[in-house]
Amino acid sequence: MSALVDAFGRPLRNLRLSVTDRCNLRCSYCMPEAEYVWLPKPNVLTFEEIARVVAAFVTLGVDELRLTGGEPLLRADLPVLVRMLAARPGLREIAMTSNGVLLGEHAAALRAAGLQRLTVSLDTLDAATFRLLSRRDDLDRVLAGIDAARAAGFAGLKLDTVVIAGVNDAELPALLDYARGIAAEIRFIEYMDVGGATQWSPEHVVPRARMLELLRRSHGPIRELPRTDSAPAERFVLADGTTFGIIASVTKPFCSTCDRSRLTADGMWFTCLYATHGTDLRALLRDGADDDTLRARLAQVWQARRDRGAEVRAALPDRRALAAAASLRQNPHLEMHTRGG
Ligand code: SAM
Ligand code: SF4
Ligand code: SF4
Repeated sequence: MSALVDAFGRPLRNLRLSVTDRCNLRCSYCMPEAEYVWLPKPNVLTFEEIARVVAAFVTLGVDELRLTGGEPLLRADLPVLVRMLAARPGLREIAMTSNGVLLGEHAAALRAAGLQRLTVSLDTLDAATFRLLSRRDDLDRVLAGIDAARAAGFAGLKLDTVVIAGVNDAELPALLDYARGIAAEIRFIEYMDVGGATQWSPEHVVPRARMLELLRRSHGPIRELPRTDSAPAERFVLADGTTFGIIASVTKPFCSTCDRSRLTADGMWFTCLYATHGTDLRALLRDGADDDTLRARLAQVWQARRDRGAEVRAALPDRRALAAAASLRQNPHLEMHTRGG
């Protein structure tokens, strides 16, 4: 069978699976509002439904799965799901992105269940800035969670930092040193105007070039590493061999090689982070569609895919926040914490 590609020749390889829309933090760049409209509980896919959908995706070329959310560790019995998915042939990698707060309790069980890779979001090492950014007082728990992940044997740990001008940009050198000290690779992410980021404005973005300038000043010469895959991060190396990444989704979008799509906890499939419409896979599943019908629908949607959301946004003359809070309440599927980062 020839590989499934979209209208621009991009394969379907990477699925981000949001297992819950709930979160225990309230990051200012993702969940700044006072209240949220949550997905109705009965709509949330069961583990069996998730496993069936994942099996269909795998037959179409997906070999990399990332569990995300909301905060994935808020989904009860997550190791049970990981075990079910890890037993499936065809998946090269099962990874998870977490805010780390609950990792201390769950890291060992997830590792034992077959989770291979872990990315922890860490925006600051300063307790006051953490409180300001996330509206919670949990920095110590996040750092303890990272320690627990290392103790559980997660090799190749990654840290993700959303960089916001005037908030945590001065901390880039310290964060890089922290990552180096625990043998993790840190990726600095440009603050994106995704759904949920209702406070976004161009002035808050620290462009890739500025990040490199700050890090050159603190850490000396930086060399760019050649790209080896379609991953969003550009990778760099310091003179001492320390590597780090930059995800420049705002100033240097990478839509031309994008092989990712996202499935919400209630089974809506989005082929772009910025897509306003998705495909309702829950309805298909619960209406009794067989595996061939499910696969055919996925293939049809992917073949028609023409998304290049970040490039379209980058070309806007007056770029402002993507969505206002009122429209997010009407359509929570637009939220980053719902569709999964
Ligand atoms: N709760 C988990 C966490 O924070 O790691 C997983 C879900 S979160 C939506 C996934 C990633 O999206 C996080 O690394 C977060 O920093 C990133 N993210 C959320 N809003 C963003 C924004 N406006 N710009 C850039 N990255 C963002
Ligand atoms: Fe922060 Fe992740 Fe929660 Fe969004 S989903 S508020 S990025 S911890
Ligand atoms: Fe892929 Fe859409 Fe992100 Fe572009 S904006 S990299 S097409 S998810």
